[in-house]
Amino acid sequence: MRIDPKTAVYGIVGYPLAHTQSPAMHNAAFLRTHMNAVYLAFETRDIDGCLQGMRGLGIKGLSITIPHKSTVIPLLDKVDDLALNIGAVNTIVNQEGSLVGYNTDATGALMALTEKIDPAGRNCLLIGAGGAARAIGFALTQQEARLSITNRSVARGELLARALTCPFIPLERVKAVHPEILIHATSVGMYPREEECVVTPAIFQKEMVVMDAIYNPLNTRFLRLAAKQGCTTISGLGMFIYQGAEQFRLWTGLTAPVITMKKAVEQVLGSLP
Ligand code: NAP
Repeated sequence: MRIDPKTAVYGIVGYPLAHTQSPAMHNAAFLRTHMNAVYLAFETRDIDGCLQGMRGLGIKGLSITIPHKSTVIPLLDKVDDLALNIGAVNTIVNQEGSLVGYNTDATGALMALTEKIDPAGRNCLLIGAGGAARAIGFALTQQEARLSITNRSVARGELLARALTCPFIPLERVKAVHPEILIHATSVGMYPREEECVVTPAIFQKEMVVMDAIYNPLNTRFLRLAAKQGCTTISGLGMFIYQGAEQFRLWTGLTAPVITMKKAVEQVLGSLP
């Protein structure tokens, strides 16, 4: 990798960032497309200072993650309509000094899901009401899926259900719902607490398509239980790669080298203890 005064700088901002795979994914993409660019990890709680740094140093693009996805919105010059509706920005593009916010999680999730099933008109149950769930929920309603939401915190779940004009179902009653598509978007079962699962096996039925937003580990307990019941499963890796591919497109105007990006992340995840 060449570093010189013309090297374009990109990165991820969040706190904590210990397990981020974004640098591996984006640096592999820059190398593959012969771009004079580098992608770094900025672990910080100071989002205001970060954006000043972005303007001052001419950083071309940033990925934004927990806990800054919502708090960054008022600090930007412009925010794309989808990101505004979701209430979360995960991508900033520096357009000649003007900082513009986007949300690529929604597109990423939809691209990963539609590889297996078109959600239009399908009965979907979404578990979670945090940032990932909001993005996935908006993507599904845009596709006219018949969506229901469940979440541990009823107040937060009902808030999202109201925003998406769909029913909220308490977590203890989801066994009675028989969705065609079941999507898990909570942090339960994420590394290092891999043996946890937010639902009981009784929820899974053979003909369901089941997707997890978690990509570390790739094969979560949620997905293992679903596979055991014969469901079609989709790991969170697809969503992660496609949201990154959309970031790459927004930053560079180029089509992302998706296969290279996927291999780079699989290599890192495969080498984790
Ligand atoms: P978040 O905004 O912090 O939301 C966390 C969600 O998890 C909330 O719904 C929360 O419920 C629920 N939750 C947390 N602990 C729980 C527990 N012990 N029991 C039941 N529910 C619990 O996080 P996020 O940004 O939405 O991320 C959620 C997951 O998606 C993470 O694992 C993240 O890595 C993954 N993700 C993946 C991608 C991708 O590209 N594949 C992109 C974004 C996020 P309450 O409302 O009750 O607290």
